[in-house]
Amino acid sequence: MTLKSILVSTALATTLATGALAEGLVGIAMPTKSSARWISDGESMVQQFEDAGYETILQYAEDDIPNQLAQIENMITNGVDALVIAAIDGTTLSNALENAHFAGIEVIAYDRLIRDSEHVSYYATFDNFKVGVQQAETLVDGLKERFGDGPYNVELFGGSPDDNNAYFFYDGAMSVLQPMIDAGTVNIVSGQMGMDTVGTLRWDGAVAQARMDNLLSAHYTDATVHGVLSPYDGLSIGILSSLKGVGYGSGDTPMPIVTGQDAEVPSVKSMLAGEQYSTIFKDTRELARVTVGMVEAVLEGGEPEINDTSTYDNGVKVVPSYLLEPLKVTAENWEERLIDSGYYTMDQIK
Ligand code: BGC
Repeated sequence: MTLKSILVSTALATTLATGALAEGLVGIAMPTKSSARWISDGESMVQQFEDAGYETILQYAEDDIPNQLAQIENMITNGVDALVIAAIDGTTLSNALENAHFAGIEVIAYDRLIRDSEHVSYYATFDNFKVGVQQAETLVDGLKERFGDGPYNVELFGGSPDDNNAYFFYDGAMSVLQPMIDAGTVNIVSGQMGMDTVGTLRWDGAVAQARMDNLLSAHYTDATVHGVLSPYDGLSIGILSSLKGVGYGSGDTPMPIVTGQDAEVPSVKSMLAGEQYSTIFKDTRELARVTVGMVEAVLEGGEPEINDTSTYDNGVKVVPSYLLEPLKVTAENWEERLIDSGYYTMDQIK
Protein backbone atom coordinates (compact mmCIF):
# COMPACT_ATOMS: atom_id res chain seq x y z
CA MET A 1 0.00 0.00 0.00
CA THR A 2 1.36 3.45 -0.88
CA LEU A 3 1.60 6.27 1.64
CA LYS A 4 -1.11 8.29 -0.06
CA SER A 5 -3.47 5.34 -0.10
CA ILE A 6 -2.83 4.77 3.59
CA LEU A 7 -3.85 8.36 4.22
CA VAL A 8 -6.99 8.06 2.14
CA SER A 9 -7.81 4.61 3.43
CA THR A 10 -7.33 5.77 7.00
CA ALA A 11 -9.93 8.41 6.50
CA LEU A 12 -12.30 5.88 5.01
CA ALA A 13 -11.46 2.99 7.28
CA THR A 14 -13.81 4.21 9.98
CA THR A 15 -16.63 2.96 7.78
CA LEU A 16 -15.30 -0.58 7.82
CA ALA A 17 -17.30 -2.74 10.19
CA THR A 18 -14.18 -4.37 11.57
CA GLY A 19 -12.54 -1.04 12.23
CA ALA A 20 -9.46 -2.48 10.50
CA LEU A 21 -7.46 -0.54 7.96
CA ALA A 22 -8.65 -1.08 4.40
CA GLU A 23 -6.44 -3.18 2.16
CA GLY A 24 -6.54 -0.42 -0.42
CA LEU A 25 -8.74 1.94 -2.37
CA VAL A 26 -10.18 0.91 -5.74
CA GLY A 27 -11.68 3.32 -8.27
CA ILE A 28 -14.40 1.75 -10.40
CA ALA A 29 -15.34 3.70 -13.56
CA MET A 30 -18.49 2.39 -15.26
CA PRO A 31 -19.97 3.68 -18.53
CA THR A 32 -23.65 4.31 -17.82
CA LYS A 33 -26.59 3.57 -15.58
CA SER A 34 -28.94 3.50 -18.56
CA SER A 35 -28.39 -0.25 -18.87
CA ALA A 36 -29.11 -2.48 -15.87
CA ARG A 37 -26.14 -4.71 -16.48
CA TRP A 38 -23.64 -1.99 -15.55
CA ILE A 39 -25.57 -1.28 -12.36
CA SER A 40 -25.25 -4.98 -11.43
CA ASP A 41 -21.55 -4.91 -12.33
CA GLY A 42 -20.99 -1.92 -10.04
CA GLU A 43 -22.99 -3.36 -7.15
CA SER A 44 -21.29 -6.75 -7.35
CA MET A 45 -17.85 -5.20 -7.41
CA VAL A 46 -18.46 -2.85 -4.49
CA GLN A 47 -19.79 -5.71 -2.42
CA GLN A 48 -17.02 -8.13 -3.31
CA PHE A 49 -14.25 -5.55 -2.89
CA GLU A 50 -15.65 -4.61 0.52
CA ASP A 51 -15.86 -8.28 1.52
CA ALA A 52 -12.18 -8.54 0.61
CA GLY A 53 -11.38 -5.53 2.81
CA TYR A 54 -11.07 -2.82 0.14
CA GLU A 55 -12.67 0.59 -0.05
CA THR A 56 -14.19 1.67 -3.35
CA ILE A 57 -15.16 4.75 -5.31
CA LEU A 58 -17.81 3.80 -7.91
CA GLN A 59 -18.78 6.25 -10.65
CA TYR A 60 -20.96 6.18 -13.76
CA ALA A 61 -20.36 8.57 -16.65
CA GLU A 62 -23.69 8.40 -18.51
CA ASP A 63 -21.95 7.57 -21.79
CA ASP A 64 -20.19 10.93 -21.84
CA ILE A 65 -16.47 10.58 -22.63
CA PRO A 66 -15.21 13.83 -21.00
CA ASN A 67 -17.25 12.91 -17.92
CA GLN A 68 -15.56 9.51 -17.67
CA LEU A 69 -12.13 11.08 -18.15
CA ALA A 70 -12.82 13.59 -15.36
CA GLN A 71 -14.02 10.82 -13.06
CA ILE A 72 -10.87 8.80 -13.68
CA GLU A 73 -8.62 11.85 -13.13
CA ASN A 74 -10.44 12.48 -9.83
CA MET A 75 -9.93 8.92 -8.74
CA ILE A 76 -6.21 9.29 -9.47
CA THR A 77 -6.11 12.51 -7.43
CA ASN A 78 -7.97 10.76 -4.62
CA GLY A 79 -5.16 8.27 -4.34
CA VAL A 80 -6.69 5.04 -5.56
CA ASP A 81 -4.37 2.04 -5.62
CA ALA A 82 -6.10 0.43 -8.58
CA LEU A 83 -8.52 1.46 -11.30
CA VAL A 84 -11.14 -0.85 -12.78
CA ILE A 85 -12.46 0.72 -15.98
CA ALA A 86 -15.28 -0.22 -18.35
CA ALA A 87 -14.49 2.36 -21.02
CA ILE A 88 -17.12 4.29 -22.98
CA ASP A 89 -14.72 4.80 -25.86
CA GLY A 90 -11.80 2.42 -25.47
CA THR A 91 -9.44 4.70 -27.41
CA THR A 92 -9.74 7.87 -25.33
CA LEU A 93 -7.99 6.90 -22.11
CA SER A 94 -4.30 6.91 -23.09
CA ASN A 95 -3.40 10.19 -21.31
CA ALA A 96 -5.37 9.34 -18.19
CA LEU A 97 -3.65 5.97 -17.99
CA GLU A 98 -0.27 7.62 -18.42
CA ASN A 99 -1.09 9.70 -15.32
CA ALA A 100 -2.25 6.59 -13.48
CA HIS A 101 1.00 4.87 -14.37
CA PHE A 102 3.11 7.74 -13.01
CA ALA A 103 1.07 7.61 -9.79
CA GLY A 104 1.82 3.89 -9.46
CA ILE A 105 -1.80 2.84 -10.01
CA GLU A 106 -2.66 -0.55 -11.48
CA VAL A 107 -5.30 -0.59 -14.23
CA ILE A 108 -7.68 -3.42 -15.03
CA ALA A 109 -9.82 -3.21 -18.19
CA TYR A 110 -13.29 -4.37 -17.23
CA ASP A 111 -15.48 -6.09 -19.84
CA ARG A 112 -14.31 -3.72 -22.62
CA LEU A 113 -10.70 -3.60 -23.78
CA ILE A 114 -8.86 -0.29 -23.29
CA ARG A 115 -6.97 0.38 -26.50
CA ASP A 116 -3.80 2.29 -27.41
CA SER A 117 -2.15 2.17 -24.00
CA GLU A 118 0.61 0.04 -22.55
CA HIS A 119 -0.60 0.82 -19.04
CA VAL A 120 -3.34 -1.79 -18.86
CA SER A 121 -2.26 -4.63 -16.61
CA TYR A 122 -5.04 -7.15 -17.21
CA TYR A 123 -8.40 -7.57 -18.89
CA ALA A 124 -11.40 -9.32 -17.31
CA THR A 125 -14.20 -10.12 -19.74
CA PHE A 126 -16.34 -12.78 -21.37
CA ASP A 127 -15.43 -14.68 -24.50
CA ASN A 128 -16.74 -11.93 -26.75
CA PHE A 129 -16.28 -13.78 -30.04
CA LYS A 130 -18.29 -16.63 -28.57
CA VAL A 131 -21.06 -14.20 -27.57
CA GLY A 132 -21.43 -13.36 -31.26
CA VAL A 133 -21.34 -17.01 -32.28
CA GLN A 134 -24.07 -17.79 -29.75
CA GLN A 135 -26.18 -14.85 -30.92
CA ALA A 136 -26.05 -16.10 -34.49
CA GLU A 137 -26.66 -19.71 -33.44
CA THR A 138 -29.84 -18.76 -31.58
CA LEU A 139 -30.88 -16.64 -34.58
CA VAL A 140 -30.50 -19.64 -36.88
CA ASP A 141 -32.27 -21.99 -34.42
CA GLY A 142 -35.17 -19.55 -34.21
CA LEU A 143 -35.35 -19.07 -37.97
CA LYS A 144 -35.60 -22.83 -38.52
CA GLU A 145 -38.17 -23.19 -35.77
CA ARG A 146 -40.42 -20.35 -36.92
CA PHE A 147 -39.83 -20.23 -40.69
CA GLY A 148 -38.78 -23.72 -41.76
CA ASP A 149 -35.86 -24.27 -44.12
CA GLY A 150 -35.55 -20.78 -45.56
CA PRO A 151 -34.18 -18.89 -47.37
CA TYR A 152 -34.47 -16.27 -44.65
CA ASN A 153 -34.52 -12.48 -44.93
CA VAL A 154 -32.26 -11.08 -42.24
CA GLU A 155 -30.94 -7.67 -41.17
CA LEU A 156 -27.78 -7.09 -39.14
CA PHE A 157 -27.11 -4.66 -36.29
CA GLY A 158 -23.73 -4.02 -34.69
CA GLY A 159 -22.75 -2.46 -31.38
CA SER A 160 -20.94 0.82 -30.80
CA PRO A 161 -17.95 1.25 -33.14
CA ASP A 162 -15.90 2.78 -30.29
CA ASP A 163 -16.31 -0.39 -28.21
CA ASN A 164 -13.78 -3.09 -29.09
CA ASN A 165 -16.30 -5.75 -28.04
CA ALA A 166 -18.66 -4.74 -30.82
CA TYR A 167 -16.23 -6.08 -33.46
CA PHE A 168 -15.82 -9.38 -31.62
CA PHE A 169 -19.59 -9.82 -31.36
CA TYR A 170 -20.04 -9.00 -35.05
CA ASP A 171 -17.17 -11.21 -36.22
CA GLY A 172 -18.35 -14.09 -34.05
CA ALA A 173 -21.86 -13.81 -35.48
CA MET A 174 -20.58 -13.56 -39.05
CA SER A 175 -18.49 -16.71 -38.60
CA VAL A 176 -21.86 -18.48 -38.43
CA LEU A 177 -23.87 -16.33 -40.85
CA GLN A 178 -21.40 -15.67 -43.69
CA PRO A 179 -21.38 -19.30 -44.93
CA MET A 180 -25.19 -19.21 -44.93
CA ILE A 181 -25.16 -15.91 -46.84
CA ASP A 182 -22.72 -17.41 -49.34
CA ALA A 183 -24.97 -20.45 -49.71
CA GLY A 184 -28.04 -18.26 -50.30
CA THR A 185 -29.84 -19.53 -47.16
CA VAL A 186 -29.59 -16.13 -45.49
CA ASN A 187 -30.41 -13.08 -47.54
CA ILE A 188 -29.39 -9.63 -46.23
CA VAL A 189 -32.12 -7.83 -48.17
CA SER A 190 -30.80 -4.29 -47.58
CA GLY A 191 -27.28 -5.40 -48.49
CA GLN A 192 -26.06 -3.51 -45.39
CA MET A 193 -23.13 -5.36 -43.87
CA GLY A 194 -19.90 -4.57 -42.03
CA MET A 195 -19.44 -2.76 -38.72
CA ASP A 196 -18.90 0.61 -40.43
CA THR A 197 -22.41 0.31 -41.89
CA VAL A 198 -24.39 -1.54 -39.24
CA GLY A 199 -22.74 -0.18 -36.04
CA THR A 200 -24.92 1.64 -33.47
CA LEU A 201 -23.11 4.51 -31.77
CA ARG A 202 -23.17 4.30 -27.91
CA TRP A 203 -25.39 1.22 -28.11
CA ASP A 204 -28.38 3.56 -28.35
CA GLY A 205 -31.76 1.79 -28.66
CA ALA A 206 -33.40 4.84 -30.26
CA VAL A 207 -30.75 4.85 -33.00
CA ALA A 208 -31.38 1.16 -33.68
CA GLN A 209 -35.14 1.74 -33.77
CA ALA A 210 -34.73 4.57 -36.29
CA ARG A 211 -32.46 2.42 -38.47
CA MET A 212 -34.95 -0.46 -38.36
CA ASP A 213 -37.74 1.96 -39.38
CA ASN A 214 -35.64 3.00 -42.37
CA LEU A 215 -34.80 -0.56 -43.35
CA LEU A 216 -38.47 -1.52 -43.25
CA SER A 217 -39.64 1.37 -45.37
CA ALA A 218 -36.78 1.16 -47.87
CA HIS A 219 -36.51 -2.61 -48.33
CA TYR A 220 -39.51 -4.44 -46.94
CA THR A 221 -42.62 -3.02 -48.55
CA ASP A 222 -42.74 -6.16 -50.73
CA ALA A 223 -40.69 -8.52 -48.59
CA THR A 224 -40.92 -10.00 -45.09
CA VAL A 225 -38.21 -9.81 -42.42
CA HIS A 226 -37.54 -13.17 -40.80
CA GLY A 227 -34.68 -12.33 -38.48
CA VAL A 228 -32.64 -9.50 -36.99
CA LEU A 229 -29.19 -9.96 -35.48
CA SER A 230 -29.15 -7.60 -32.51
CA PRO A 231 -26.05 -7.53 -30.29
CA TYR A 232 -27.63 -6.03 -27.13
CA ASP A 233 -31.01 -6.13 -25.39
CA GLY A 234 -31.35 -2.34 -25.36
CA LEU A 235 -31.13 -2.34 -29.17
CA SER A 236 -33.46 -5.35 -29.45
CA ILE A 237 -36.24 -3.52 -27.59
CA GLY A 238 -35.98 -0.61 -30.08
CA ILE A 239 -35.89 -2.97 -33.07
CA LEU A 240 -38.94 -4.85 -31.76
CA SER A 241 -40.91 -1.60 -31.34
CA SER A 242 -40.15 -0.72 -34.92
CA LEU A 243 -41.26 -4.17 -36.13
CA LYS A 244 -44.44 -4.05 -34.04
CA GLY A 245 -45.16 -0.59 -35.41
CA VAL A 246 -45.66 -2.02 -38.90
CA GLY A 247 -47.66 -5.03 -37.75
CA TYR A 248 -45.13 -7.80 -37.14
CA GLY A 249 -46.19 -10.08 -34.31
CA SER A 250 -49.90 -9.57 -34.88
CA GLY A 251 -52.54 -11.09 -37.12
CA ASP A 252 -50.87 -13.64 -39.36
CA THR A 253 -47.53 -11.81 -39.57
CA PRO A 254 -45.15 -13.64 -37.25
CA MET A 255 -42.57 -11.74 -35.24
CA PRO A 256 -39.08 -12.03 -36.76
CA ILE A 257 -36.41 -13.77 -34.68
CA VAL A 258 -34.58 -11.04 -32.73
CA THR A 259 -31.48 -11.81 -30.64
CA GLY A 260 -29.92 -9.82 -27.78
CA GLN A 261 -27.37 -9.75 -24.98
CA ASP A 262 -27.24 -9.20 -21.21
CA ALA A 263 -30.50 -10.87 -20.15
CA GLU A 264 -31.93 -7.55 -19.00
CA VAL A 265 -35.33 -7.71 -17.30
CA PRO A 266 -37.36 -5.99 -20.08
CA SER A 267 -35.89 -8.46 -22.58
CA VAL A 268 -36.60 -11.49 -20.42
CA LYS A 269 -40.20 -10.26 -20.15
CA SER A 270 -40.24 -9.72 -23.91
CA MET A 271 -39.06 -13.31 -24.48
CA LEU A 272 -41.82 -14.60 -22.23
CA ALA A 273 -44.33 -12.54 -24.23
CA GLY A 274 -43.09 -14.25 -27.44
CA GLU A 275 -41.37 -11.14 -28.83
CA GLN A 276 -37.58 -11.18 -28.38
CA TYR A 277 -36.34 -14.68 -29.19
CA SER A 278 -33.04 -14.96 -27.31
CA THR A 279 -30.46 -13.18 -25.23
CA ILE A 280 -27.00 -13.99 -23.90
CA PHE A 281 -26.46 -14.19 -20.15
CA LYS A 282 -23.15 -12.93 -18.84
CA ASP A 283 -23.03 -13.37 -15.07
CA THR A 284 -21.75 -10.01 -13.84
CA ARG A 285 -21.19 -11.49 -10.36
CA GLU A 286 -18.58 -13.79 -11.88
CA LEU A 287 -16.94 -10.95 -13.77
CA ALA A 288 -16.72 -9.01 -10.50
CA ARG A 289 -15.18 -12.05 -8.78
CA VAL A 290 -12.48 -12.39 -11.45
CA THR A 291 -11.77 -8.65 -11.32
CA VAL A 292 -11.47 -8.53 -7.53
CA GLY A 293 -9.05 -11.47 -7.76
CA MET A 294 -6.96 -9.58 -10.34
CA VAL A 295 -6.81 -6.44 -8.20
CA GLU A 296 -5.87 -8.41 -5.09
CA ALA A 297 -3.10 -10.19 -6.99
CA VAL A 298 -1.59 -7.05 -8.52
CA LEU A 299 -1.69 -5.12 -5.25
CA GLU A 300 -0.21 -7.97 -3.28
CA GLY A 301 2.47 -8.69 -5.84
CA GLY A 302 0.95 -11.99 -6.99
CA GLU A 303 -0.03 -13.39 -10.37
CA PRO A 304 -3.72 -13.20 -11.23
CA GLU A 305 -5.44 -16.11 -12.88
CA ILE A 306 -5.56 -15.62 -16.65
CA ASN A 307 -6.69 -17.98 -19.41
CA ASP A 308 -5.93 -16.03 -22.59
CA THR A 309 -2.67 -14.43 -23.67
CA SER A 310 -3.24 -14.08 -27.40
CA THR A 311 -6.65 -12.64 -28.32
CA TYR A 312 -6.77 -9.08 -27.02
CA ASP A 313 -4.20 -6.93 -28.79
CA ASN A 314 -4.98 -3.34 -27.82
CA GLY A 315 -2.80 -1.80 -30.53
CA VAL A 316 0.23 -1.52 -28.22
CA LYS A 317 0.34 -4.88 -26.49
CA VAL A 318 -1.56 -8.09 -26.03
CA VAL A 319 -3.35 -7.66 -22.72
CA PRO A 320 -3.39 -10.83 -20.59
CA SER A 321 -7.02 -11.73 -20.06
CA TYR A 322 -9.47 -13.90 -18.23
CA LEU A 323 -12.44 -14.85 -20.40
CA LEU A 324 -15.66 -16.09 -18.82
CA GLU A 325 -18.22 -18.24 -20.60
CA PRO A 326 -21.38 -16.60 -21.93
CA LEU A 327 -24.64 -18.59 -21.92
CA LYS A 328 -27.53 -18.68 -24.40
CA VAL A 329 -30.96 -17.88 -22.97
CA THR A 330 -34.36 -18.48 -24.59
CA ALA A 331 -37.92 -18.87 -23.35
CA GLU A 332 -37.03 -22.56 -22.90
CA ASN A 333 -34.22 -22.24 -20.37
CA TRP A 334 -34.51 -18.76 -18.82
CA GLU A 335 -35.68 -20.05 -15.47
CA GLU A 336 -32.78 -22.41 -15.02
CA ARG A 337 -30.23 -19.85 -16.18
CA LEU A 338 -31.54 -16.72 -14.48
CA ILE A 339 -33.67 -17.75 -11.53
CA ASP A 340 -32.04 -20.98 -10.35
CA SER A 341 -28.66 -19.23 -10.49
CA GLY A 342 -30.02 -16.53 -8.16
CA TYR A 343 -29.34 -13.75 -10.70
CA TYR A 344 -32.97 -12.63 -10.58
CA THR A 345 -35.89 -13.43 -8.32
CA MET A 346 -39.15 -14.58 -9.88
CA ASP A 347 -40.78 -11.35 -8.65
CA GLN A 348 -38.50 -9.30 -10.87
CA ILE A 349 -39.67 -11.14 -13.97
CA LYS A 350 -43.34 -11.94 -13.36
C1 BGC B 1 -20.86 -5.30 -23.26
C2 BGC B 1 -22.23 -5.85 -23.47
C3 BGC B 1 -23.26 -4.74 -23.49
C4 BGC B 1 -22.83 -3.59 -24.36
C5 BGC B 1 -23.76 -2.42 -24.20
C6 BGC B 1 -20.59 -4.23 -24.27
O1 BGC B 1 -19.31 -3.76 -24.15
O2 BGC B 1 -19.91 -6.35 -23.35
O3 BGC B 1 -22.54 -6.77 -22.42
O4 BGC B 1 -24.46 -5.26 -24.00
O5 BGC B 1 -21.53 -3.20 -24.07
O6 BGC B 1 -23.76 -1.93 -22.91
